[in-house]
Amino acid sequence: MKKLALHWKIIIGLFLGIIWAILSGFFGWSEFTTNWLAPWGRIFINLLKLIAIPLVLFSIIGGIVGLGDPKHLGRMGIRTLVLYLSTTVIAVSLGLLIVNVAKPGTWMDETVRKENRIAYELWAQQEGEEVHDDINMLADPVNSELIAEVAKRRGFDEDENVQSRLKQVESQKDSGPLTFIEDMVPDNVFKAMTDNGSMLKVIFFALSFGIALLFVPNDKAQPVIAVVNGLSEVFLKMVDLIMKGAPFFVFALMAGIVSEMAGDNPVKIFELFKGLTWYSLSVLGGLLLMAFVIYPTVMKVFVKRLSFKGFLKGISPAQMLAFSTSSSAATLPVTLECVEENLEVDPKVSSFVLPIGATVNMDGTSLYQAVAVIFLAQMHMIELDLAQQLTIILTATLASIGSAAIPSAGLVMLMIVLSSVGLNPAWIGIILPVDRILDMVRTVVNVTGDATVATVIGEVSAGENGEVGVFND
Ligand code: ASP
Repeated sequence: MKKLALHWKIIIGLFLGIIWAILSGFFGWSEFTTNWLAPWGRIFINLLKLIAIPLVLFSIIGGIVGLGDPKHLGRMGIRTLVLYLSTTVIAVSLGLLIVNVAKPGTWMDETVRKENRIAYELWAQQEGEEVHDDINMLADPVNSELIAEVAKRRGFDEDENVQSRLKQVESQKDSGPLTFIEDMVPDNVFKAMTDNGSMLKVIFFALSFGIALLFVPNDKAQPVIAVVNGLSEVFLKMVDLIMKGAPFFVFALMAGIVSEMAGDNPVKIFELFKGLTWYSLSVLGGLLLMAFVIYPTVMKVFVKRLSFKGFLKGISPAQMLAFSTSSSAATLPVTLECVEENLEVDPKVSSFVLPIGATVNMDGTSLYQAVAVIFLAQMHMIELDLAQQLTIILTATLASIGSAAIPSAGLVMLMIVLSSVGLNPAWIGIILPVDRILDMVRTVVNVTGDATVATVIGEVSAGENGEVGVFND
């Protein structure tokens, strides 16, 4: 029998995991699943994360040194940033378009929306936030009873989960305009490497180390380069080995996640989804458009040698992993491998472009943030004007750059986007129930976006060197 390709095995693991979780809900096995299966999923994520930091470090340094000439680096750096920014802005705009046309937030009971609106006006009054549209329900005496009732009954911020996330974001809200640059420069590289979520600091260190190495005389630089390249190889080999177990690990991961969402009542998942169906469908629609229309178009324009089907086939193990881990950082080692080996992108390009992309380029996240903010505004009967929608494009772009490449990071950053247009950040509590599922899909788009940009840059650079698309060492 022909050996089954790895991505098929992973897909099978993924589905078996979901089926297991549903069965375990029916037969009351959730305790077994939580105690004996879920830990393997977490071990898998840990193993991948274990490799991610050193791999980012050595592959960026190796990538820069491989370019050999600071001029090449500058050109590639600019291309990378321009492409990453463009795809992100396209994603946010697409999100805004979909949510403004589909209006998922208006598909609910009018009285509920009215109550929401009153709750919003009460909150704005309490926080001293300006209300931009001219609906003023608090001023209308007809509503007085409802206002009293809503004032008594409402308050999303009682949710513990939301409270802890609010605290997380509080520190970021007070920051000045240059704080994000300040935060990028580590004062201690070893601390940066041990601190979860400070990948930008590691990237900064790797970039400076690599650039400095370019200027060191050849005889001194060579041994360092050899060590860096050798270490990269070792880490890539570790990915290879871990991936052999991926089908089982993904099974355990999915079984754990789905059973955690559903407990011993699998019908609950569908119930959670029901109230937020239109919102979820809008996000999913946008994400699918990104994956199946926008990226293929970009590929068609820039990369002739690869069909989109070929591209998807090459990148699918990374996509499966993004889906099951919800983390671009954990997926990075596999993304690198897929892009280099299956899509035959020059490792000098991918090892520079992909680690930066995993942290900085999150098209799926930015699209979701745009849809979520407008959806939440719609369900509170709030009309956002053009200036506010433009603010959303800007903050969602920045927030997606600032989001760590880990599960739910986009949800935390969504609070900043909500605050930027004067809305209540505690509203993330409303969409929290479906967030994990959407997180899985947006992470797939994040990773696909990185791979698209890396392939395009690989193609353009290879074309310049007179060789089309393949390794040029
Ligand atoms: N989980 C996403 C990622 O790692 C980030 C997010 O949107 O929460 O790419």
